[in-house]
Amino acid sequence: METSNLGYPRIGAHRELKRACEKYWSDKISLEDLIETGKSIRKENWRLQQEKGIDLIPSNDFSFYDQVLDTTLMIGAIPERYKNVQKSGKNHLDLYFAMARGLQKEGVDVIAMEMTKWFDTNYHYIVPEFTKNQEFGLLSHKAVDEFNEAKSLGIHTKPVLLGPVTYLLLGKEKEEGFHRLDLLPKLLSVYHSILEKLMDAGATWVQFDEPILSMDLSDKEKQAIGKVYREIAETFPNLKALLASYFGNFGNNLDIAVKLPVCALHLDLKRGPNQLGQVLSSGKLNEKLSLSLGVIDGRNIWKNDFASSLRLIQQAKEQLGEDRIIISPSCSLLHVPYDLELEKNEKVLSKEIKDWMAFAKQKLEELHSLKKLALSPDFESHQLFLDNSASMERRRNSELIHRSTVKQRVEQLDETDYHRQSPFEKRKVLQESHLKLPLFPTTTIGSFPQTKEVRRNRSLFKKGELNEKQYVDYLKNETEKAILLQNEIGLDVPVHGEFERNDMVEYFGEQLKGFTFTQNGWVQSYGSRCVKPPIIYGDVSRPNPMTVFWTSFAQSLTDKPVKGMLTGPVTILQWSFVRDDQPRSATCEQIALAILDEVLDLEKEGISIIQVDEPAIREGLPLRKKDWNHYLDWAIGAFRLSTSGVKDSTQIHTHMCYSEFNDIIKSIADMDADVITIECSRSQMELLDAFYEFDYPNDIGPGVYDIHSPRVPSEGEILKLLRKAENVLPASKLWVNPDCGLKTRGWEETKDALRVMVSAAQQMREAV
Ligand code: GLN
Ligand code: ZN
Repeated sequence: METSNLGYPRIGAHRELKRACEKYWSDKISLEDLIETGKSIRKENWRLQQEKGIDLIPSNDFSFYDQVLDTTLMIGAIPERYKNVQKSGKNHLDLYFAMARGLQKEGVDVIAMEMTKWFDTNYHYIVPEFTKNQEFGLLSHKAVDEFNEAKSLGIHTKPVLLGPVTYLLLGKEKEEGFHRLDLLPKLLSVYHSILEKLMDAGATWVQFDEPILSMDLSDKEKQAIGKVYREIAETFPNLKALLASYFGNFGNNLDIAVKLPVCALHLDLKRGPNQLGQVLSSGKLNEKLSLSLGVIDGRNIWKNDFASSLRLIQQAKEQLGEDRIIISPSCSLLHVPYDLELEKNEKVLSKEIKDWMAFAKQKLEELHSLKKLALSPDFESHQLFLDNSASMERRRNSELIHRSTVKQRVEQLDETDYHRQSPFEKRKVLQESHLKLPLFPTTTIGSFPQTKEVRRNRSLFKKGELNEKQYVDYLKNETEKAILLQNEIGLDVPVHGEFERNDMVEYFGEQLKGFTFTQNGWVQSYGSRCVKPPIIYGDVSRPNPMTVFWTSFAQSLTDKPVKGMLTGPVTILQWSFVRDDQPRSATCEQIALAILDEVLDLEKEGISIIQVDEPAIREGLPLRKKDWNHYLDWAIGAFRLSTSGVKDSTQIHTHMCYSEFNDIIKSIADMDADVITIECSRSQMELLDAFYEFDYPNDIGPGVYDIHSPRVPSEGEILKLLRKAENVLPASKLWVNPDCGLKTRGWEETKDALRVMVSAAQQMREAV
């Protein structure tokens, strides 16, 4: 029996890599310094894993930006527009960063490659680009170099490669007339070269990541997987291939997976504990195949329940014998923070809750303990097991988690709690007479510039260098300036500006019961960007109003209806570490009730327009289509629960910023928000087609300008977009707003752009 790790966080326990990269990008340190930082992080990671007794330690899981981009560089799939950067003889890393971030320097001006979410995680990868006559050639030897680097430290590692089929499928064709899978033979020959080099260097195990096996695959795609691993097995009979899929079960790809001529097959038993039984009883396992049992959750921060992991391990052991068993985390540990021991402040993370948790380093210890216990004849009396059981027991019964008032409230919900009193048409009439807004009403998505000044004041307050009154006075002043400015510009529905918020989820989490936070719980989101997700550990409720003070303050400064701003239950859930002792849907429902309380309090204070942001609904979609309906049912239900308790005359808005609605438009309509604002400008209003084709019943604010750049749009541009929108949807349904919040913008461009936007709306009204 061996322990194996699939990948380790690489940003550095103290975010050393983040800092080094950012310094290198702004010319503050040399390339050598940056490379040195990478080296020392790798060394520390390998040493730690060795010390913790991990048998199969990964290499090539390190990355200066992203493992998919590493693969792109390895196989030399460099898009044409970077050829000059490549030719300029710069180091590979400069080419690499140019692809990741774009480059504007010394006469070069290239944009970055596209970035998108890695499966259903919050990690973003750089999307490979392919052309019809795409050529590949081994360009980067990183995988071999890092294997050798570890070897020179006396550590024999298991190199990790992104599997060729997943790699191709994650990319995009940039030309017509071919399918990216057609490129497989060419790509395989580069994989052969790198495998040859790895074998020459002395590698034995190689891990191939093919998480695409957790998704629905066509026959052609399934055949491609079979072909790749048969060919590798034939060409490299001495290579021990570990094929890893994660983030779900194999589903109907199980058949091909168990037949692959690999030495070990990794199963994500956190997402699919039942598939172990299916694999064992499939009758198709070749008798040399080992199973890598992903029993430790690589996606969450909870301590492993040894009893249930050991049940799975025993089940496998009985059929396969211990030699054919590998114990692993469910996926790479990239998705969890480094080290729980760094959480020293009990005021931030209480001792009691900390006892229930495990970060990456602690998960290594768990792997080792599980192996020990699995090999021990009477593990149930082993101290490691007893300690773990006691901790599980403490968590199960903790009064911090279970709050009967919350549970009772959920039990008493009925169908009416998920519906507004009247249908939209009737509400619309009431809202019109109450709000008296013009045609093409203008508004923004909520946040105004979070300037350095705003952030500095917040940090001074947190450090205690500003007292509460000083900080609140500062925020009041900012809010007042924002309201006066919106009045002056002539926006019909002003907002308070969100100056008091650090982050749209954290701000609410900090005020809700059932949430806790960390000081160092950073997880890589993309490149050098990290997030520190809140942790939902217990039943959620809202002890006190969270936004009423700021919204009412803003309302007291203007006669126009101020729009209250809240983050929706699905987005709060999606961007947090979530408890694993109840379904996500149950947690989401509790958050929805907390948001509902806030909605009702805002209404009571005279706020008649309330926006509940749900930018994360789409990213919560399960990997397999068959699971979509179930998810959408509870997710949309949670949104409705959080917004349905209001009067007909109160107008509910929601906001989303992504570029695909076609396949979920029915659910978006089911949300029954009176107004939905969406990102639209970059797609030139094409997005609206989905709403048109579906005959979307409620009102829509398609974004009329891109907020990602400081560029101020011209009135002509905005008018063109609005006319396009008017061609698709009746004027009576349209709102006018930017694509998203303005927090990343500066004041100058914000003022100018909003003036142009308001003037364009004016023109539209006059033309009616
Ligand atoms: N109200 C938020 C803001 O304006 C919405 C942010 C988002 O959509 N991600 O910043
Ligand atoms: Zn947005």
